[in-house]
Amino acid sequence: MPEHAFTLRPRPTVPVEGDKPFPVRRILCVGRNYAAHRAEMGGDDRDPPFFFAKPADAIVPPGENVPYPLATADLHHEIELVVAIGPDGIFGYAVGVDLTRRDLQAAAKAKGQPWDAAKGFDHSAPISAIRKLANLGDAPIGLSVNGEVRQKARIGDMLWSVPEILEQARLLWDVQAGDLIFTGTPEGVGPVQKGDLIEGSVEGVGSLSFEIV
Ligand code: MN
Repeated sequence: MPEHAFTLRPRPTVPVEGDKPFPVRRILCVGRNYAAHRAEMGGDDRDPPFFFAKPADAIVPPGENVPYPLATADLHHEIELVVAIGPDGIFGYAVGVDLTRRDLQAAAKAKGQPWDAAKGFDHSAPISAIRKLANLGDAPIGLSVNGEVRQKARIGDMLWSVPEILEQARLLWDVQAGDLIFTGTPEGVGPVQKGDLIEGSVEGVGSLSFEIV
């Protein structure tokens, strides 16, 4: 007899350079963690960074393309440094894109409703392989669409540093091995269309590329 009434799809994983795949438990995301992006979204310095979440199965592993999602006409890219949590704290880092249905987000904001439909949709978290790194420093982060640079900043521009993000997250959740934390996006977010090639990188961490199909 099977153990459950039916079988779920396997837990999503992310490749790790030089190790076995990383099993994903949760995805936490930081909002408004770069001052210039906060400003372009209409916020100011009275808006501190905060968290939202995506489901683990929003992960799109490296090498896979992203289907243009349902129910939006304004899909946006947000390049982000991703922190991967292991059994002993920080396991490594990756490069991720926090894909956002910006029209649904604007509607949710206007009504004071949650962001799940804007942020936590299927295939909304493309990610690179994880690189095991102890320290990152002030690395350049950037994203281009069809070869044109759209986002360009430095990790040192983050309002909450990686240790501060972890400290804040641990006030709210029991952060565990398998958790991924998207650390927020710099300025320059914008729309992508079917057929666009998105390439993102964080120097010293890695790069990812995918097409919207
Ligand atoms: Mn984001």
